Amino acid sequence: MTHIVCNTCKTPYALADPRWKCDCGAPLDIHFQAAFDTDAIRERTPTMWRYREALPIEKDEHIVSFDEGFTPLLKTEINGKPVRIKPENLFPTGSFKDRGASLLISRAKELGIRKIVEDSSGNAGAAVAAYAARAGIACDIYVPEATSPAKLAQIRMYGAALHKIPGSRENTARAAMEAAEHHFYASHVWNPFFFQGTKTCAFEIWEQLGFTAPDTLLVPTGHGTLLIGAYLGFRDLLDRDLIPGLPKLVAVQAAGCAPLYRMWRDQLTDVPPVESGGTVAEGIAIAEPSRAAQILDILRDTGGEVLSVTDGEIQTALVDFCKRGWYIEPTSATAIAAVGKYPISEGETVVVPLTGHGLKSTEKLLKLVET
Ligand SMILES: *Cc1c(COP(=O)(O)O)cnc(C)c1O
Ligand SMILES: [Zn+2]
Repeated sequence: MTHIVCNTCKTPYALADPRWKCDCGAPLDIHFQAAFDTDAIRERTPTMWRYREALPIEKDEHIVSFDEGFTPLLKTEINGKPVRIKPENLFPTGSFKDRGASLLISRAKELGIRKIVEDSSGNAGAAVAAYAARAGIACDIYVPEATSPAKLAQIRMYGAALHKIPGSRENTARAAMEAAEHHFYASHVWNPFFFQGTKTCAFEIWEQLGFTAPDTLLVPTGHGTLLIGAYLGFRDLLDRDLIPGLPKLVAVQAAGCAPLYRMWRDQLTDVPPVESGGTVAEGIAIAEPSRAAQILDILRDTGGEVLSVTDGEIQTALVDFCKRGWYIEPTSATAIAAVGKYPISEGETVVVPLTGHGLKSTEKLLKLVET
């Protein structure tokens, strides 16, 4: 039966329990038996909801969707190395976060929730605000004061109440958690339904590669919403014997805020104190990733690793890549920069998601071309 489980102490909770963390303080996961009907999948409209039997929303009438997903998978080269690009910047709100928001807000609708609270460095807030608007659910979004203006405009245009919090990303999280004592915490980091949405990225890659798994994914990672989601998706496929093994998941961090990189390199079990915000990759400038232990387990389980790229490397990769007709935000370019550091073997299928649209950070990109 579908239920919620603490990812640390393994305490089970009922699926209907409105809690957002375990009594022990750790994040929660969902235990759910995903199913796949490959023949039916092929016939359905090309959206992330074509994997319906793998998504833990009970009734179709609760699904909150813009028919999003099924982003392309394109072959190209980066610095002469063959890769497949998955342009997740093509989602309705301009980032892959729509995958998670669609599941999370569908679940909120299923629970009859009228008002939600969320905190984010920008893109998750925009995605949650858009889907809440589509569902008619009131929405309060907390963001750090330094968030890109385009993301703030987007959140406000969706009709959400915007709260700008001074200081670090962690201050913003604390403000939202206080508000969440009175309202449903629709957190992309804590609520496990969000990851049940981001996992559809793995299903699409599997289908687009002819129902096989790639060898490797390079994923920009702060809190790990795409990395953990991809893992859960490939796990679902493995559990159903639809792939022979898990692809290697490589987390990419910006050197200016790289707690996971330090944990990996120095074999730490706790998140070390890190100054946040010192990077152009604002979307992954997460000093205290709540699911750090889970992320490191995933890297070990898949034979992956953490790569760290400097702001100089990010900017060079971004400029070179955009010159070839792509348009992405600096955070997304961390994975492009990481291709340079990752040795691709003969015949290895490497997938690089484009996590966020360039239009999200016009003012940062203007600075690059004007200097
Ligand atoms: C959210 C996001 C990521 C991944 O961030 P996590 O904190 O690991 O979930 C990467 N790129 C962009 C553009 C994002 O918005
Ligand atoms: Zn626990």
